[in-house]
Amino acid sequence: MSEIDLQSLRNTVHHFVQREIVPHIEAWEEGEIFPKDLYKKAGDIGILSLGFPERIGGLPGSTATTMVIVEELAQSGSGGLIAGLLSHGIGLPPVVALARDALLDEVGPSILAGDKICALAVTEPGGGSDVANLRTTAVRDGDHYVVNGSKTFITSGVRADWLTTAVRTGGDGAGGVSVLLIDGHSPGVSRSPLKKMGWWCSDTALIHFDDVRVPAKYLCGGEGMGFLGLMHNFNHERLMLGAMAVAFAEVCIADALEWSQDRQTFGRPLISRQLVRQNLLQMTERTAAARALLEATATKVDAGEEPVAEVCMVKTFATDNLEYVAGQAVQLLGGMGYMRGTRVERIFRETKVLSIGGGATEILRDLAARQLGW
Ligand SMILES: Cc1cc2nc3c(=O)[nH]c(=O)nc-3n(C[C@H](O)[C@H](O)[C@H](O)COP(=O)(O)OP(=O)(O)OC[C@H]3O[C@@H](n4cnc5c(N)ncnc54)[C@H](O)[C@@H]3O)c2cc1C
Repeated sequence: MSEIDLQSLRNTVHHFVQREIVPHIEAWEEGEIFPKDLYKKAGDIGILSLGFPERIGGLPGSTATTMVIVEELAQSGSGGLIAGLLSHGIGLPPVVALARDALLDEVGPSILAGDKICALAVTEPGGGSDVANLRTTAVRDGDHYVVNGSKTFITSGVRADWLTTAVRTGGDGAGGVSVLLIDGHSPGVSRSPLKKMGWWCSDTALIHFDDVRVPAKYLCGGEGMGFLGLMHNFNHERLMLGAMAVAFAEVCIADALEWSQDRQTFGRPLISRQLVRQNLLQMTERTAAARALLEATATKVDAGEEPVAEVCMVKTFATDNLEYVAGQAVQLLGGMGYMRGTRVERIFRETKVLSIGGGATEILRDLAARQLGW
C-alpha cells in the first residue's frame, strides 16, 4: 500500500473515531461495554478486513496499515475499545493459518463484515504464560470433539460468536496442543464477565466448557499443530500491543503539553518552567525511541522476516515507556489527571494490562534473550 493510501486510510479511520467513538467513549467506559453495532460500522468501512485474505472479504494490508488503525483508534484514549473491537485480530489469524479453506469460508466473511464476533481463548485459570501446559481437553467422539475445561481473561469472551480455543488433544507439552473453533453459543459453554482495573468497555470473560460437543470439522489444522500456529499469532499480537503503547504515550504527551501550555501556576504557564519542559522532552525522546524501534521492526515483518527478539523488545520497551509517560502525564495534570474523564487517567489505569497481556514483560525478555542465543 502506498503512502497516499496510508494517508487516506488514516483520514477514514480518523473520521470514524471522531464521529462514532469519541462522543460516546466515556459512557461506554463507565457502562463497561460498547454497543455491538460498532463491529458492523467498523466492518462497513473495512477496518476489520485489512491484512486478511481477499477470499473471505479481506483487503491487502501490511503491518503499517494495522498500525495506522491502532494509532487513530488510540485517539479515543481507550485501549479497551481497541482490544474489544479488534479481538478478531488475534482470534482469526490462527484459523487463517491452520484451517481448511471450507472452514475459513464458513466463518471468515461474517467476522470481517462485523456481523460475528471472534475471540482468542488461550489463557486458563491455572496459568497463561505457560501455554504448552494448558489443561482444557478436547476428546474425539465420532464426528465431534468433547471439550472440558476453563479459559479466563478472554477479550470479547462473553459476546463472541466464535471462540478460537487452544485445547489439549494429545499428550503433555506443546505437541499435544490443538486449535479448535468453538461456537460460543453451544450447549455447555457458560460465560461470565470479569471486572478490571482498566479496559472497562472491553468485555473480558471467564469461560467454562462442560462437555461441549464441537463438530470435528472445526479443528484448525491437524491435531497437535496448534502451538506453532499460536506462537506465530503471538508475534503479531505483541507488535500491535507495542503499537498501542507507543500511540497511547503520544496521546499522553499531547494532553500533557496542551495542559502545560494552558495551566497557570504562580502567575505563569507551567510550560515556562524549566523542570516541566525537561519532563515533557524526556517523555518525548523516549517515546520517539520506542516509535523508531516499532517502525524498524514493522518494516522487517513487512519484508517477510520473523524478528522474534525485536518484536519482544518492541513490546517490553514500549510498555515500560508507557508506564513512565502516563505516570508523568497524570502528575503534570495534577488533580485533574486523577479525575475520571481525562484520557491520561484512563490510559494510566490501562498501562499494566499492556505489560501483562499477550506475554508478560518477564516472559518476553527471557524469550528475546534466548532468541539472541544467550
Ligand atoms: C484485560 C486482559 C485481557 C486479556 N485477553 C486475553 C485474550 O483475549 N485471550 C487470552 O488467551 N488471554 C488473554 N489475557 C491473558 C493474558 O495473556 C495473561 O494474563 C498473560 O499471558 C499472563 O498469564 P497469567 O495471567 O496466567 O500470569 P502467570 O503466567 O501466572 O504469571 C504471573 C506473572 O508472573 C511473572 N512470571 C511468570 N512466569 C515467569 C517466569 N518464568 N520468569 C519470571 N517471571 C515470570 C510475570 O510477571 C507474570 O505477569 C488477557 C489478560 C488481561 C488482563
